[in-house]
Amino acid sequence: PDFCRRLPKVELHAHLSGSVSETTIQKLQVKKGVGHEGLQGDTAIGKGETRHLQEPFRIFKIIQDLSDTEESIFMMTEDVISEFAADGVRYLELRSTPRHMPHTGMTPQSYVESILSAIQKCKDREDVVVRLLLAIDRRQSVETAMTTVRLAQEYMLRSPGVVVGIDLSGNPAVGDGRDFIPVLKEAQNCGLKLALHIAEISQQAVAPETSALLSLPPDRVGHGTFIHHNQDLAAVVADRKMPFEICLTSNVKAQTVASYGEHHFQHWYSRKQPCVLCTDDKGVFCTTLSEEYRLAAETFGLTRPALWDLSYSSIDHTFVGEDLKQQLRDRWNTEKEKLF
Ligand code: IMP
Repeated sequence: PDFCRRLPKVELHAHLSGSVSETTIQKLQVKKGVGHEGLQGDTAIGKGETRHLQEPFRIFKIIQDLSDTEESIFMMTEDVISEFAADGVRYLELRSTPRHMPHTGMTPQSYVESILSAIQKCKDREDVVVRLLLAIDRRQSVETAMTTVRLAQEYMLRSPGVVVGIDLSGNPAVGDGRDFIPVLKEAQNCGLKLALHIAEISQQAVAPETSALLSLPPDRVGHGTFIHHNQDLAAVVADRKMPFEICLTSNVKAQTVASYGEHHFQHWYSRKQPCVLCTDDKGVFCTTLSEEYRLAAETFGLTRPALWDLSYSSIDHTFVGEDLKQQLRDRWNTEKEKLF
């Protein structure tokens, strides 16, 4: 476990609200003046517990209702960054869905600005580099999704390099991903990268939205749990060497994968498909990125050098330019000497 914590790591799939720790939840409750009693145990799925996929979506709503001001978004972001850094994450891509909270005056714009201020504040940290993806929630209207892309475009120009892409997420049982194709194309056209949740539930292995989203093509696939159940889809992903964002604990706890041993990581990793280990929602699923590395080692028999390679090759799939990628590789190589 200590090796996995000391290993320098890349986190590419972390939703802000789902990443909030119990400590930060308590701070949010104090800020909002709500009692802790009613919520304890309500915002996380503990060790050994599993729940139906619909349950995390109920939990995200509780956390989002608690974080309805610019101040709370700033604090959440700062805390989440510090926690990832303490776990040995050296490059972090956060993602979050801009929200409008009319009762507090928070707008999608001020939401994004609060996150960016927290990222800006840690700009001089030696231990971690942070970038941001703006998320589209599947239940949103196409118009709202387009507003998110426009915001991302605006901030890409205003604070160059920090907003790097767009995520499509939200309850996979809701809506049709095809509705967002024009919006996602618009994002691509202005230079934003795409990390899309694809085929997270079994119905999507045969749904027309999956092949439509894959043909964009996305720069990374979120989960992709059921892609290998469909030969044609699997061929598209394999031919293009699309990287998978792999979230072991999240998938098992939310019951889209029956057990760690049956996780699709095994299928793709053994075929040399690019795979990046990620946490998804470290707060809600009570995990850390080092725990995900430990689990992968334990379940699939990965050696320390194999874990190292997995972490090092993840740098290739970050949404940053070649210069920063090279800086990260240099840093990894320096840390390597102390690790082995
Ligand atoms: P936020 O966007 O920072 O508020 O983070 C929470 C949001 O992330 C949720 O409302 C979902 O839209 C999304 N999300 C988190 N985990 C998952 C997942 O496993 N599948 C799909 N969407 C997710």
